[in-house]
Amino acid sequence: MIEENLKNIRSTMPEGVTLVAVSKTKPIPMLQEAYDAGQRHFGENRVQELEEKNATMPNDIHWHMIGHLQSKKVKKIAPFVHLIHGVDSFKLLQEINKQALNNNRTIDCLLQFHIAQEATKFGFSVEEVQSLLKSDEFVTLKNVRILGVMGMATFTDNEEQVRAEFSVLKAYFDQLKTDFSAELPHFSVISMGMSGDYKIAIQEGSTMVRVGSSIFGSR
Ligand SMILES: *Cc1c(COP(=O)(O)O)cnc(C)c1O
Repeated sequence: MIEENLKNIRSTMPEGVTLVAVSKTKPIPMLQEAYDAGQRHFGENRVQELEEKNATMPNDIHWHMIGHLQSKKVKKIAPFVHLIHGVDSFKLLQEINKQALNNNRTIDCLLQFHIAQEATKFGFSVEEVQSLLKSDEFVTLKNVRILGVMGMATFTDNEEQVRAEFSVLKAYFDQLKTDFSAELPHFSVISMGMSGDYKIAIQEGSTMVRVGSSIFGSR
């Protein structure tokens, strides 16, 4: 069934959009099934679970940390994480840089924006990111690469609202790419869209979708 689900989802995705299979809470055999169907990008939202799955699964998997990340836990995933989606403070970015340096690597990151109406979703405002990118401290962070932006739409059936929120994130991306081309030479990723809204997200310019329940079943 997982293979079938992956095939169906991939068939609706244009080339150039990366599918991250969100496997949080799901057991290893289900991840292995997706792996055997060719899936290599997996997303998790808890550090401990991510560590355990990384230790068990084949080592050519690209692990995405998609959840809220506490600074004190960065150390645990710094040796292997492929992309951190939820960077929402300068302090966190500094810690990622520090742990990347300790591991003699560069860690790719996305800046999370607050685009939903819900007060609970984490993320920067565009003004905060602009001042971060202009700061002297940002230039000193040599071991992180900002690849793009990430956002979550409001959890609602209102398709037009979701579409509008995704288009806001796309506009932020375009503006930053234009205004900070020197500071953001690798800026190319727009991570938006989940099981319920990834088709809308792709129409609005997503380059990376994070899909869980449509692949693995509900949690
Ligand atoms: C759980 C989660 C997803 C996947 O959600 P589904 O609705 O199961 O596709 C995507 N992004 C984030 C940040 C998540 O926490």
